[in-house]
Amino acid sequence: MSSYDRLKNKILETVDALADEAWGISQFLFDNPELGLQELKASATLTSTLEKYGFTVERGVGNLPTAFKAYRTGTADAPSIAFLSEYDALPTIGHGCGHNLIAIVGSFAGIAVAHVINELPGRVLVIGTPAEETIGGKIRMLENGVFDDVDIAMMAHPSTETVVRAKALAAQTTVITFHGKPAHAAATPWRGINALDALIQTFVGLDQLRKQLKPSVRIAGIITEGGERPNVIPEKAVGKFSIRAENYDELKELLNKVQHVAEGAALATGAKVEIIFPEPPYLDMRNVESLASTFEKKWLELGGTLITDPGKTPGSLDIGNVSHKIPALHPSFAITDKHIAGHTREFADATRTPMARRETIRMIKALAITALEIFINPDLFNQIKREFAQLQ
Ligand SMILES: [Zn+2]
Ligand SMILES: [Zn+2]
Repeated sequence: MSSYDRLKNKILETVDALADEAWGISQFLFDNPELGLQELKASATLTSTLEKYGFTVERGVGNLPTAFKAYRTGTADAPSIAFLSEYDALPTIGHGCGHNLIAIVGSFAGIAVAHVINELPGRVLVIGTPAEETIGGKIRMLENGVFDDVDIAMMAHPSTETVVRAKALAAQTTVITFHGKPAHAAATPWRGINALDALIQTFVGLDQLRKQLKPSVRIAGIITEGGERPNVIPEKAVGKFSIRAENYDELKELLNKVQHVAEGAALATGAKVEIIFPEPPYLDMRNVESLASTFEKKWLELGGTLITDPGKTPGSLDIGNVSHKIPALHPSFAITDKHIAGHTREFADATRTPMARRETIRMIKALAITALEIFINPDLFNQIKREFAQLQ
């Protein structure tokens, strides 16, 4: 038996032996949903479990209190392969994005590899990446150097489809503020400059612009300030927009057009416009083919199937930013046969079914043996690095 086969068998046996423990943690997270940056219980449970299996844990990494970085080193310090765990929930609907499953996939893939790390040249990490739904925790962690010593990152997201090569749109939150001039709306409206009108013009202009944009573009907006009372011409109006495009270059072009629409509205109404980006952009997902196809083989070998859900279009993911820095893998895996929209109670409930458990355990195994293959096969590791460099 080759050493790959022997270690693979050990990994698969470990995952089976720990399946109840992993599933119990997912249920605990389901019963105790925590919002981004408040994931105290999730972070405590996962880190204490990792410590139990011999990981060294650094808490609060990247200046995020509920983030963590856990590692175990084998016969060499590198390569470093990290599994990412997410564990934030959504307001009122709990784990409607299934991050309770992402949490155990990342942690237990890491734990399974750790069971054989003494025989492998490299380091296995589990990185806890909080607040995916709010600030894009991974983006902060990248900026703060948490991924600087990581060679490859892997995670998996539950879904209604099983897709190896993730798609994610580049996205930029954009706040557009118009400053006008207040005036009595009945007595002297001509002395005022209506900031709300400028913002409404912007919405109309963006809807017209959309007709000439690619179907992949998404522009969604809300009005967060639009005046205080109807008898005063609004002095200030604020719109918050989520603007998305296929990749970062197209997003930058799109943002230019959005700016022109807002400036046109300012010119037309006499208001002054101010555009700010309160958070860094989410970047599109870059897939490294040799990494994706290695995983795909393992997934199929373990009896997994590939399923596309025609009712699904991509959103944005903070792993996109990771995938611009290091090779990253982010398959989605179907936990239900029905089409269920994400971010719903129905999807949260779907994370607790026998099918969800079966597929989650399969995913833990598939990610773990993908890492094993990379540790054992330096040619593959080099090929992944080469292909990644070509994507830049
Ligand atoms: Zn989500
Ligand atoms: Zn999610």
